[in-house]
Amino acid sequence: MVLGNIKEYTKALKEQFKDRIATIGDAPKLAIIQVGNIEASNRYIKNKVKDCEEVGIIADVYQYPEDITEHELCENIKFDQEHYDGVIVQLPLPPHIREKAVVAAIDPLKDVDGFHIDSPYPPATPGGIMMYLKHCNFDLTGKDVVIIGRSNIVGKPLARMMTDADATVTLCHSKSKLSNHLYGADLIVTAVGKAGFLNCYPIHVPVIDVGINRLENGKLCGDVDFENVEPKASYITPVPGGVGPMTVAMLMQNTVTAAEKKIK
Ligand code: NDP
Repeated sequence: MVLGNIKEYTKALKEQFKDRIATIGDAPKLAIIQVGNIEASNRYIKNKVKDCEEVGIIADVYQYPEDITEHELCENIKFDQEHYDGVIVQLPLPPHIREKAVVAAIDPLKDVDGFHIDSPYPPATPGGIMMYLKHCNFDLTGKDVVIIGRSNIVGKPLARMMTDADATVTLCHSKSKLSNHLYGADLIVTAVGKAGFLNCYPIHVPVIDVGINRLENGKLCGDVDFENVEPKASYITPVPGGVGPMTVAMLMQNTVTAAEKKIK
């Protein structure tokens, strides 16, 4: 099965968001909270701001120093969020700040990254993947899906969403005997964060590559050893230009929805 072109799809989605924003009247507002100055985070934030601006969402970045305390950060978030439809915190955070505490400081109704258990919005990366599969008419009913990586922001919520969509999901991690699970899968999702990690798997199986890794030559790549594996797969989502843009699209959709709810 060949999956569809993500670039064209995200372009079409942006047009839909522009139309929805025109109906709202006021530009939706998104606050992006950053702690420290990690180069990769700067880049992700820059892309989010650029995409938001393109569709008419105002995205303001609040950059706090690396040594801000957890308490100070949470208090600032509680204060900052008043003026926004959506609030997100760029991960990773410094080790002295607990993700859980920060997520709890965000009003669930403004948690457009979908991290909070009471957030009404789909988590951005898994939600983006589900939206993409739906767009490709990839029916998960009865499919065997192998997800590699069990993080709270990708693997676990994606496993739940795919199970709810009637797939049979095997959630693998660093202690799994991968070869026992990969063969026979109808779809593989890899969210490990290691370049060249996936270098052999069944022929004609689509792969969703969530990983983002930087090579020594500065280039970005996913978890799939693209050169060796690509000819065998029916489709591998590209990195860059795959799950990343779908994640931002989901984030923008959630922000537009939050702004629409406010005016109802
Ligand atoms: P984490 O580091 O939180 O999780 C990595 C997972 O991979 C863990 O569950 C770990 O297992 C598993 N793992 C590590 N080594 C192996 C192995 N040898 N075999 C099987 N499983 C293994 O990462 P994230 O989920 O936060 O991110 C994963 C990747 O996805 C990163 O490259 C990140 O940058 C990217 N990402 C991309 C996004 C996008 O928008 N495109 C969004 C979010 C993440 P264990 O639990 O046992 O340690």
